[in-house]
Amino acid sequence: MQKLVIIGGGFAGMWSALVAAREAATANTPLAITVVAPDDHLTVRPRLYEPFTPAMRAPLRPLFGPLGIELCLATVSAIDSTACTVDARDAQGAAHSLPYDRLVLAAGSVQRALPVPGASEHALDVDTYAGAEKLSAHLDRILAAPDSPARLTFVVIGGGFSGIEVAAELRHHLRRKGDEAAAKAARIVLVERESAVGPDLGAQPRPHIEAALAACNVEVRLATSVTAIEADAVTLSGGERIPCATTIITTGLGAHPLAAGIGAEHDAQGRVLVDGALHVRGTDKVFAAGDIARAEVDDSHVALMSCQHAVPMGKHAGYNAARELLGLPLREYRQPDYVTCLDLGDFGAILTAGWDRAITQVGAEVKGLKQMINTQWIYPPTGDRQALLVASDIDAPWPPEV
Ligand SMILES: Cc1cc2nc3c(=O)[nH]c(=O)nc-3n(C[C@H](O)[C@H](O)[C@H](O)COP(=O)(O)OP(=O)(O)OC[C@H]3O[C@@H](n4cnc5c(N)ncnc54)[C@H](O)[C@@H]3O)c2cc1C
Repeated sequence: MQKLVIIGGGFAGMWSALVAAREAATANTPLAITVVAPDDHLTVRPRLYEPFTPAMRAPLRPLFGPLGIELCLATVSAIDSTACTVDARDAQGAAHSLPYDRLVLAAGSVQRALPVPGASEHALDVDTYAGAEKLSAHLDRILAAPDSPARLTFVVIGGGFSGIEVAAELRHHLRRKGDEAAAKAARIVLVERESAVGPDLGAQPRPHIEAALAACNVEVRLATSVTAIEADAVTLSGGERIPCATTIITTGLGAHPLAAGIGAEHDAQGRVLVDGALHVRGTDKVFAAGDIARAEVDDSHVALMSCQHAVPMGKHAGYNAARELLGLPLREYRQPDYVTCLDLGDFGAILTAGWDRAITQVGAEVKGLKQMINTQWIYPPTGDRQALLVASDIDAPWPPEV
């Protein structure tokens, strides 16, 4: 039986596996599909800025079992694209070497280390499930600690998409922990090195973001960098030292390091360059999808590191990898439509359409849409084998509607 190996059980990897399994079932030709990932859950990363809940993960086995997809719980350390093998190690330390006929690389992205003294020791993040859980435990500790100038001061580093969402939601984290007084008293400082908040989000949403941050009582420091992080303080580029017990880094993602070991060319974020069918350029038999791949969505735009792009890319990579093995025609990945839905805490949310982010809706009513996206639309499909096969049709609508 021909072997399709998929690295990663996130949005791109999970959908690659599901769509590949459907193509094999439709062609009535079995393929051995194996997903290699360190975890048997999908982490719903777009939710990680919210107050922590174990529901930020969804189990993969109820999806993979009925479709005959094997899950190898291991971390990939190397890809040999000449021998067509993947080397991985499981949690018990056992080595696995997996041969493949086609490979889908979907290992996602990682938060880039902030080159500031103290960052790795003292700063928190909302990039991984473990990071969100650690932030939650940290908040429990500071809420139980005696009062001090640092205790209820929070510094969020990076005023991009995630930094804005975290800063706007932080009071809600404290409220969820039952401490309304702390939620009211908290001092939240958002530090951005560019001269505008949301520098990559463009001019149109900015006045609304600024109004929302003001309404959420978030202090914004623009054209400012953090130069040192301690357990109970951060120092800013102007020399100011802010006592704070909590520092959260949201300064940007880079492609997973596995990208560096494959493909001829990489972009500034370390992503592998792929062609229209999502083959990694400069390789044979390897596809890539999600945050690790730089794909063109139309004639003038490139996919972002977003769930919105990772899901359709994953579907196309799985479809094309399976169909290449089945000797069937491939399909080009194209995704010209683009929307943004940014959570703005108690202010609500903002919905924009198109690459110039024209405002579609702002305020409390959009918050419901954001919650629906985060808690329903981006979750894996459910049901028996037949329902999963229907949901795994590359032409099935996703998301349901915006
Ligand atoms: C706080 C936050 C907010 C976000 N908000 C939004 C939003 O509003 N809208 C939006 O569209 N996107 C948002 N995103 C981005 C979105 O979450 C990512 O673009 C998406 O998760 C990418 O999917 P992926 O499958 O490429 O990677 P991931 O979802 O990261 O999955 C990668 C998978 O690879 C596995 N893996 C990693 N290393 C290895 C290895 N060595 N071996 C085997 N497996 C490995 C991981 O365990 C995981 O299963 C947000 C992200 C964050 C962190």
